[in-house]
Amino acid sequence: MKRMIIVGAGAAGLMAALSACDRYNVTIIEKNEKAGKKIYITGKGRCNLMNDCDIDTFLKNVVHNSKFMYSSINAFSPQDTYEYFSSLGLPMKTERGNRVFPVSDRASDVTKALTDELKRKNVKILYNTTVRKIVTDKCSVSPDEDRMIDIIVRGVETDKGFFPGDVVVVATGGLSYPTTGSTGDGLRFAEESGLKITETFPALCPLNIKEEDCKKMMGLSLKNVKVRFSVKQDGKNKRKLIYEDFGEMLFTHFGVSGPCILSASNYISDYLDKDIKLFIDLKPALSNEELEQRIKKDFDGFRLREYQNSLGQLLPRLMIPVIIERSGISPSKKTADISEKEIRRLAELLKNFELNVIGLRSYNEAIVTRGGVSVKEIDPKTMESKKVKGLRFAGEVLDVDALTGGFNLQIAWSTGHAAGL
Ligand SMILES: Cc1cc2nc3c(=O)[nH]c(=O)nc-3n(C[C@H](O)[C@H](O)[C@H](O)COP(=O)(O)OP(=O)(O)OC[C@H]3O[C@@H](n4cnc5c(N)ncnc54)[C@H](O)[C@@H]3O)c2cc1C
Repeated sequence: MKRMIIVGAGAAGLMAALSACDRYNVTIIEKNEKAGKKIYITGKGRCNLMNDCDIDTFLKNVVHNSKFMYSSINAFSPQDTYEYFSSLGLPMKTERGNRVFPVSDRASDVTKALTDELKRKNVKILYNTTVRKIVTDKCSVSPDEDRMIDIIVRGVETDKGFFPGDVVVVATGGLSYPTTGSTGDGLRFAEESGLKITETFPALCPLNIKEEDCKKMMGLSLKNVKVRFSVKQDGKNKRKLIYEDFGEMLFTHFGVSGPCILSASNYISDYLDKDIKLFIDLKPALSNEELEQRIKKDFDGFRLREYQNSLGQLLPRLMIPVIIERSGISPSKKTADISEKEIRRLAELLKNFELNVIGLRSYNEAIVTRGGVSVKEIDPKTMESKKVKGLRFAGEVLDVDALTGGFNLQIAWSTGHAAGL
């Protein structure tokens, strides 16, 4: 039997081992003391292990390099994933947005299902062992010809010595949440083996905002708002829309977070050197004119009340001082004295609450990594490097990322499955 070394006992590495172990003699090498340290923290400890959707929907939720996923997702689809985990005896339930969780709400049950099966199949996992280097060799066309044509993998060098392998699967994850073990080692291995790496960014992460207003509204969660991100186009007065979404967001001490913002982070990293603005439409169900009418109606109801005490029906408490300051209307002005022009300006402010994005939060807060081993270097069917025979990559180490909803773990399961086969 050929020997396969899998570097990393995360989602992709465990799945690769399971799909390989009937045909290869598999050893998984993991630097942590246990498998799936990141899986434990997924889905707030509940693990949204997949999305029960069709292949087209899956591909639409992959933000970068979705085409690369074609073969592996068709070979191991969300339905196959569901059936596979069912066959391992993991009871699952499907929640809002087709998000699948273990019935127990315990992420550890997902890892346990995988490691129990590996135990049954006698797959070795070496814990507390760090791979330092992928060992490759040049090989000739035939023993009597000394013309070198190929680079071929020979095994891995670890802190506990050399482990030979005919195939090495690098499933070391990306750079996000480095305390779980994903410290970018696989990116270095790829680079040392002559493969191209695309620039990496924290993704599905909160955003830093210039204005102190966010700090003043810290903890305020907004539901049913529309967010639009735009950049100034070089040499033009116009702004270009780069992302828009509808849903929930949150103000924090450094800026903004929440579902809409995390999704946006995957799209805006291309524009970080530009002036990115976030516009929040606080009343997306109303047009500007309708909102002006609504404000007038509110103000007509309490004509002698001061402006600063008149926004309670319109806005959440924490937002009122910020809006008052931005509106430029004196807080002590009686609502009856507020002019049509001022009402128009207030409505405009609520439809376009403007913030300046100054950057992404760090990898410590990023759910995934954007960028990684260039998919141009990899055969999408086998996950094998086109340059180094026997060297394969799976999971987040690859330059593929997706939105929240179970899609990132699906990338790990499907690419892991392909690499193992
Ligand atoms: C807080 C959080 C919540 C998330 N929630 C979800 C969710 O609910 N649903 C979803 O789909 N996705 C979720 N994700 C994303 C998802 O967890 C990852 O995309 C996925 O786990 C990546 O799997 P992987 O196997 O490629 O890498 P990892 O899970 O990062 O595993 C890599 C493994 O390789 C090991 N390793 C690294 N370098 C070496 C080395 N040199 N030698 C030996 N071992 C090494 C690491 O210790 C680690 O165990 C979440 C991520 C985070 C951070």
